[in-house]
Amino acid sequence: MILTPHAIVGAALANLFPNDPALGFGLAFASHYVLDMLPHTDYDISGFLDTKNKTVKSIFKETKSALHLLLIAADFIFAIFLCFLIFVRNRQSLILTLIGIIGGLLPDFFQLLYYKFKCQPWTFFQKIHDRLHALIKVKNEKFWGILFQFVVPIFVLVIYFLVKH
Ligand SMILES: [Zn+2]
Repeated sequence: MILTPHAIVGAALANLFPNDPALGFGLAFASHYVLDMLPHTDYDISGFLDTKNKTVKSIFKETKSALHLLLIAADFIFAIFLCFLIFVRNRQSLILTLIGIIGGLLPDFFQLLYYKFKCQPWTFFQKIHDRLHALIKVKNEKFWGILFQFVVPIFVLVIYFLVKH
């Protein structure tokens, strides 16, 4: 999935357990893999990797890759902005929100580390990522792939607001 739904779900989970930030972080981290199991559209990062041995290469050489990097950066900034808007009310919720965002996005950062270094423990996390990625298959992949990116975070937000208010 793109970064915004991962960040929203992560931040919501961390804010649901204000007295246990470690649990919130763990849930946010685990939620990344659960969300990735659903059918979803992804960024095309193929241009980020060397075709031969799939390590990170200079992405600015190609326009398409540079554009995708720009989209990812915009997605990241939008995710932070939206999470702050929804969750941050005071110092505690600021810390919880940051913990949730980091937990929710960390597995994708681990992917980057894997492609860069190709060693443990990143290989281990990559295996989990690959194993669970788009595990649930549907017929109209494109349609559901986009729909889930909206429906899942909204669903989690509804639960969050029901619990919190
Ligand atoms: Zn992922």
